Amino acid sequence: MDLERIMHNLEKKHPGESEYLQAVREVLESIVEVVNENPHFESAGIIERIIEPDRIFVFKVPWLSDDGTVNVNLAYRVQFNNAIGPYKGGLRFHPSVNLSILKFLGFEQVFKNSLTTLPMGGAKGGSDFDPKGKSDDEIMRFCQSFMLELWRVIGAETDVPAGDIGVGGREIGFLYGMYKKLAREHTGVLTGKGINWGGSLIRPEATGFGSVYFAREMLATKGEDIKGKTFALSGFGNVAWGAATKINDFGGKVLTISGPDGYIYDPEGISGDKIEYLLELRASNQDIVKPYSYEYPEAKFYQGKRPWEVKCDVAIPCATQNELNKEDAENLVENGCICVAEGANMPSTPAAVEVFLENKILFGPGKAVNAGGVSTSGLEMSQNSMKLNWPAEEVDKRLHQIMKDIHQACVEYGTREDGYINYVKGANIAGFLKVANAMIDQGVL
Ligand code: NDP
Repeated sequence: MDLERIMHNLEKKHPGESEYLQAVREVLESIVEVVNENPHFESAGIIERIIEPDRIFVFKVPWLSDDGTVNVNLAYRVQFNNAIGPYKGGLRFHPSVNLSILKFLGFEQVFKNSLTTLPMGGAKGGSDFDPKGKSDDEIMRFCQSFMLELWRVIGAETDVPAGDIGVGGREIGFLYGMYKKLAREHTGVLTGKGINWGGSLIRPEATGFGSVYFAREMLATKGEDIKGKTFALSGFGNVAWGAATKINDFGGKVLTISGPDGYIYDPEGISGDKIEYLLELRASNQDIVKPYSYEYPEAKFYQGKRPWEVKCDVAIPCATQNELNKEDAENLVENGCICVAEGANMPSTPAAVEVFLENKILFGPGKAVNAGGVSTSGLEMSQNSMKLNWPAEEVDKRLHQIMKDIHQACVEYGTREDGYINYVKGANIAGFLKVANAMIDQGVL
């Protein structure tokens, strides 16, 4: 496989789409040997076909503010690959959303979904709409207008969107309501639904819980456990909340959380009532990081800084892409961190990943570590198809097993001769093989 030629051609076709190009390069670098050992992948044009989305829908979303102002946002759905199942992937509402970010996320989703052991293809979508500071009515009008376009191209057996940054239970409710009205059917077309109308128990916690289950498996390969370990987390959204809860359940201590403006260091640990307090702040749409340090004087707020400078055993970045750079990685390693598990999608820059791999610390890439979210979405789809709801214990048990299986797949394909497990390679190869073989079976499409 001529990686540089493939990347050169892709860069020519998609100039400046740095996140997308970065994600493709990272995957190709780790599967190059497998592709070279299996010439039929190359002769079937698998690489050229797998790195481009099947199709992209772009549409405008006009909506009215409460004061009657007309607003227009741009929205997208990137249907990347459906070789192993219907397109599946979240919707992100955030001002930073653009095609490069959604293509990177859609591409990653293909391999992540393949790893989950469930039949799901990869997709991603969203809008540059900023839900922050908007009233519920404004959010509703935006979601309804968004769905007026999107509903034509999605369906329970075609493309099943879910939440992501800026899209939680409230937004899924408004989106689903509009879909239901337009399509005149009550079906599992979205995941992350409310528990009384088709949602799955454990879905809100799943990504964070799954990240911790995965970190636990990684630590076990070194004879270590979560109990008594210190954790640095970033963000305090859906993923960080689930992770913080499960770390506490397993006897670990959460030292940090963060927001775009800085981080909180709480040497006594963020647990119990403190987590409840953070949830209340989040639910009321308030800034959460600074108020925490006023409420709990033992905690300190570090303005404009990132949590990767603190001494911790395990780091779980849970905020956003490229939030942990080379210098941060060097700080973590120097301070004795033994494990980094990516709760967010691509939070570490390529240079940071290199630092982790060079220093042979345990490093779990997002597509494996945070796959618990989409796995539980897959379980939600199964429950919808069967028209029944599993109890929380059943869903959690299945989630736990899926995370163990994903870990095992990474070990199988990522263990090097010296015994070091390269999880990046393991996850990419395991995810790639399933999709590539399905594409071969189905012919050139
Ligand atoms: P949320 O929107 O719920 O939370 C994101 C959190 O990160 C918020 O606390 C936000 O703070 C904070 N944040 C945003 N930008 C920065 C920054 N530059 N520095 C520090 N903190 C920041 O999102 P999720 O928790 O759902 O998702 C987080 C990540 O996990 C994303 O990469 C997402 O793609 C990925 N992911 C999520 C899944 C899910 O099930 N939710 C599944 C798989 C992956 P503030 O609110 O103040 O802006």
